[in-house]
Amino acid sequence: MDTQRRRFLKSAAMAAAGSMVAANTDLISLPVMGADDTLPDGDGLTWSKAPCRFCGTGCHVQVGVEDGRIVAVAGDKHADVNKGLLCVKGYHVGGILYGEDRLTKPLLRKDGELVEIEWDEAIDIIAKRINKAPDRFAFYGSGQWTIPEGYAAQKLMKGGLSNNHIDPNARLCMASAVTGFLATYGVDEPAGCYADLDACNVLITWGNNPAEMHPVLFSRVTDRRSRGEEVKIIDISTRRTRTSDAANEYLEMKPHGDVAISLGIMHLLIENDSYDKAFVKNHCNFRGDEADTPTLTGEAISEEEFRKRIAKYTPEHVEELSGVPAEKIRMLADLFGNRDHLITSLWCMGMNQHTMGTAINSLVHGVHLLSGHFGRPGDAPTSLTGQPSACGTVREVGTLAHALPGGRVVAKPEHRSQCEGFWNLPEGRINPVPGYHTVKMFDQFTKPTAEGGDIDTLFVQVTNPGQTLPNLNKLFNDKQGMEDKFLIVSDVYPTATTQLADLILPAALWVEKNGIFGNSERRTQQWFKLVDPPGEARDDTWMTIAIAHRLFELGHEGMKDKDGDFLFAVKDDEGNEIPIWEFEHYYDVNVDKHLFEEYRPFTTMKHKNLAPYDEYVKARGMRWPVVEQSDGSWRETKFRFSGFDDPFVAEGKEFDFYHSNTEDGKAQIWFHEYQSPPEMPDKDFPYWLCTGRVLEHWHTGTMTRRVTQLNRAMPTSYVEMNMEDARDQNIRQGETVILESRRGTTELPVWIDGRGRPPRGTVFVPFFDETKLINNCTLDAHDPFSKQPDYKKCSVRVRKINDATPSQVAKSD
Ligand code: SF4
Repeated sequence: MDTQRRRFLKSAAMAAAGSMVAANTDLISLPVMGADDTLPDGDGLTWSKAPCRFCGTGCHVQVGVEDGRIVAVAGDKHADVNKGLLCVKGYHVGGILYGEDRLTKPLLRKDGELVEIEWDEAIDIIAKRINKAPDRFAFYGSGQWTIPEGYAAQKLMKGGLSNNHIDPNARLCMASAVTGFLATYGVDEPAGCYADLDACNVLITWGNNPAEMHPVLFSRVTDRRSRGEEVKIIDISTRRTRTSDAANEYLEMKPHGDVAISLGIMHLLIENDSYDKAFVKNHCNFRGDEADTPTLTGEAISEEEFRKRIAKYTPEHVEELSGVPAEKIRMLADLFGNRDHLITSLWCMGMNQHTMGTAINSLVHGVHLLSGHFGRPGDAPTSLTGQPSACGTVREVGTLAHALPGGRVVAKPEHRSQCEGFWNLPEGRINPVPGYHTVKMFDQFTKPTAEGGDIDTLFVQVTNPGQTLPNLNKLFNDKQGMEDKFLIVSDVYPTATTQLADLILPAALWVEKNGIFGNSERRTQQWFKLVDPPGEARDDTWMTIAIAHRLFELGHEGMKDKDGDFLFAVKDDEGNEIPIWEFEHYYDVNVDKHLFEEYRPFTTMKHKNLAPYDEYVKARGMRWPVVEQSDGSWRETKFRFSGFDDPFVAEGKEFDFYHSNTEDGKAQIWFHEYQSPPEMPDKDFPYWLCTGRVLEHWHTGTMTRRVTQLNRAMPTSYVEMNMEDARDQNIRQGETVILESRRGTTELPVWIDGRGRPPRGTVFVPFFDETKLINNCTLDAHDPFSKQPDYKKCSVRVRKINDATPSQVAKSD
């Protein structure tokens, strides 16, 4: 019997849900039959747990390994997140390791050509460039960094180089959620968890398409409906999606309409006297922007002042601003005005990639607080993340240009001092000036040195900015031909970013290394290395430590702690240092565990307490705060700030916002004035452009496009057009058109009223396809607080390939 058939029969006999990973990227999908409680090892096959590599849902998979290769993947029935289910990407996650073009050797660009070099030389080149000009170095990371990867990078930069130019790609996807949580509760991340989806009877999706982007979570709600439970789904969006198809109500809004709608709901709650007076009195304050320089803490306003400011947001005015009929605004206000309902709001990029991102996040929290729909299971304002560890690595480890681990910030002397204490650093080592956020970092990197471009070496790990940055022509492509700018990229496959890289480092991927992620519901998830990476691909944490050690050897004082020890020193039981900077010794010890235990004390500072590493080895993740019980066990927390579950709520209190910005245990209900989007359609660029994702591909597609089944299912990007618009322009289904903004162009086939159905005057383009870079067109306008760019709205025109350009028309006229 051939090996593949033997594997198939073995797994089928185990009745395991999942897919088989064949010797190449072709997978054999098996039907979902319900995973056995325990998938048995044996006959050369070993099953181990790991979180899925893709989205922030954090489903757990069981990974079947035989002869050093992943041969099968199954949904993990032990996992509370997904209860054995996976989405189409998850079933094929094993295949991402086996694309034919894996990077396996360091590559250096010499005279325009990439040539293979040894690791030793690669590390030497990087360390010498940093040592020459440490302040001109920047580190760009990711919400796909594992917690130890992000922590190591953070420590190298802020604790070692006194350099705060470190920022993650999560700046592009959820920074506004962070600032929204901070402005409202004084501390980041959702109070509730996925269990809210099992309890709510109203689900409101705000500019969010979980049916495609978080399908396993969405199925928790649709499954309940198929069992006869009543759950009303209300989808508020700028275009019809698969979520709209499942919704009881689809409310189509204009871009920025969400701001007006939330103000309209709050207006009616006050006007109808249906807000929760007791909740507001006991647990909330009102805030507004300062007149001069708005901040995240704002200024106190009275309830009377709040009423005055919100008075103009009548349902009719909101209809004008948002396009949603006034009676639907009344319907939403009536729902929130009724405490018998349990209402969960979900959002993701739609509210975050928004020039009013902080404002709209705060306003939706405010709708829930004002109405008292908060803190009971099912009553929750909840933001989701797109990346597997945007929460764990970026928000908790604090790998942002202004932040430190444990919710500390570089600007505060006492915070710097605490971190210097934890890291055993000399006083004053941490730089007090925040570094460059993502857009600014790339702007400085691609700007000529003579014109003030003060970043000349940039290290990119675990992300693909050559495809994801907005306004690519300005923020990325300008690097081309600049001799004094040096781009280092660690990745697993060639990407849009490696095309301009001067040095490419081959990286280990997912279960080719140890890892820890933190998902959207505060769940920390650990896994072990299960297979070897190909060729000379290596762990990203190792790269960071190896660079740090070479700097140490070069005499960089920042690579030493107060006692003169190497910043990343790991010692054995006899006190001898283990040379983890040499890759052959990297796995002599569990470096992940060492870094995690070093990081853990930081997590108590904002009541995000984590358990010891070994507890996560046993669990399918645990939601923080995780607190030790009197019997020595560790208890997770599902509902933060609620007295019935959160161990940090003061005794006897129903709710306690214990990190309140006003230091009185209260959350903040914000008023923000509606503002128009930064760029609006006009006669030259008459369409709104919205960008986003598709079910089959994960973000820039660098992994999922290597999986044959996923790539065959969705082989190319497209522009979704409204039927009437296409007819007006005489554009046919499948025809290739030029999409053009003031910043750039891309060519795309047209999909008329396809999977998503945009209204007249709107087009939608997914960003997964590196051959059709839609971010040539997007703009780099960003939220003033979160610095997160707006990928959801700019103006474009659609031109048939053979049409004359408007400028040619003007000339011939
Ligand atoms: S991609 Fe997301 S929803 Fe799909 S299996 Fe992975 S974690 Fe779950």
